[in-house]
Amino acid sequence: MPAEAEHIHPPAPTRSAYDLVVIGAGVIGLSCAWRAAQAGLSVLVFERDAPGAGATGVAAGMLAPITEADFGEEALLELNLRGRGLWGGFAAELEELTGMASGYADGGALVVAADRDDREELHRLHDFQRRLGLDATWLTTRECRALEPGLAPRVGGAILAPQDGQVNPRAVVRALTAALRSAGGELICAAEVTSLETAGGRVTGVRADGDRSAAASAVLVAAGAWSNGGGLASGCGAPALRPVKGQLLELRVRRGHLPPAERLIRTPRCYIVTRGGSGEGAAGHRVVIGATMEEQGFDTSVTAEGVFGLLEAAREVLPEVGELELLSARAGLRPSTPDNAPAIGRGGPDGLLWATGHHRNGVLLAPLTARLIVDLLRGGPTPPELHAFDPDRFDSLRVV
Ligand SMILES: Cc1cc2nc3c(=O)[nH]c(=O)nc-3n(C[C@H](O)[C@H](O)[C@H](O)COP(=O)(O)OP(=O)(O)OC[C@H]3O[C@@H](n4cnc5c(N)ncnc54)[C@H](O)[C@@H]3O)c2cc1C
Repeated sequence: MPAEAEHIHPPAPTRSAYDLVVIGAGVIGLSCAWRAAQAGLSVLVFERDAPGAGATGVAAGMLAPITEADFGEEALLELNLRGRGLWGGFAAELEELTGMASGYADGGALVVAADRDDREELHRLHDFQRRLGLDATWLTTRECRALEPGLAPRVGGAILAPQDGQVNPRAVVRALTAALRSAGGELICAAEVTSLETAGGRVTGVRADGDRSAAASAVLVAAGAWSNGGGLASGCGAPALRPVKGQLLELRVRRGHLPPAERLIRTPRCYIVTRGGSGEGAAGHRVVIGATMEEQGFDTSVTAEGVFGLLEAAREVLPEVGELELLSARAGLRPSTPDNAPAIGRGGPDGLLWATGHHRNGVLLAPLTARLIVDLLRGGPTPPELHAFDPDRFDSLRVV
């Protein structure tokens, strides 16, 4: 059925009961659903809009645990490094199974200093990275301009993190959707889950709009920033979440021009991701500039201030950005917990699991989250690395 027709007449579940129902077809829900279907479970995903309609469809796709590392977030860094380690194999398997691209590339990242203040900040960050034993090298202006000739002469040095990489999240969503279906999983779009069904202290299924329901032995809430909204939260001990808005620009390299940089370029104010051309030479390259961090509730408007700030921050280190064709400006909502780390695991009634709150790293953490969720679905104990990310850790803050 064409996607538009599916939107008007979403199909009904083909079974009356599933091993697993997943709420939300972002990168987290789709990755978990695919891996669960591969593990032999009967799986149904309900998505209220279209796959990737939430934060995933806006995300830049950086796989950047090293340049995202922040003071006081060592447990999250450990998780992010493990997540990064899985991406090469995950992307290769996805591409081989579906014949579709994921945009996976492991060209590394450069965090550049545009002025003296940036330099001091980046030296502190580099010391921190070195103390943690991370693969990060300080480069002089000359060294970083030798790697990326498009960098402005004013750039005052940079941190090179060769292990950071990237994917194209929208391409990943398309491939995951195909992989899920070929593994026997079902996906119903334009179907919002309105409540969880429970009996005798366990979850028994979900109810979706249009009077559809599905019984399930386990339900996974992967509804991004909406995971503690409405009927998903009531009585089920949802983790505390808030939406953190991010605005992001997409630009195109003009025919006959080279992209302004090959690697992922970051500054303390923005990042610039170049996505490969699709057989059209340099003219097929897209450049993504992100992203703002705003606490505005569920607002996804694009503002002049947001667009101006991102373009200005990118152009100060890569002047060629001014020559690119501006294609779009969008905003998405990161699902964020009080400590900005994810909530992954069991919580609430028996049979209910959560995979949400991935904040700035949901794309990076998707393969690892899926692996950990499938381990839990198989009945295993909570893996030690998940203790710091227990959905119940915000007991006093959760919505009930
Ligand atoms: C501007 C920006 C840039 C980012 N860049 C990066 C990056 O470079 N690298 C990185 O790792 N991460 C990045 N992120 C973060 C990343 O996008 C998120 O962490 C990740 O996409 C979260 O995925 P998710 O599947 O949990 O949520 P979402 O992608 O938001 O998906 C949730 C889905 O659930 C659906 N849904 C909600 N409620 C219901 C319901 N009741 N019933 C059915 N369906 C429902 C929604 O429609 C949505 O499709 C970025 C985010 C933003 C906004």
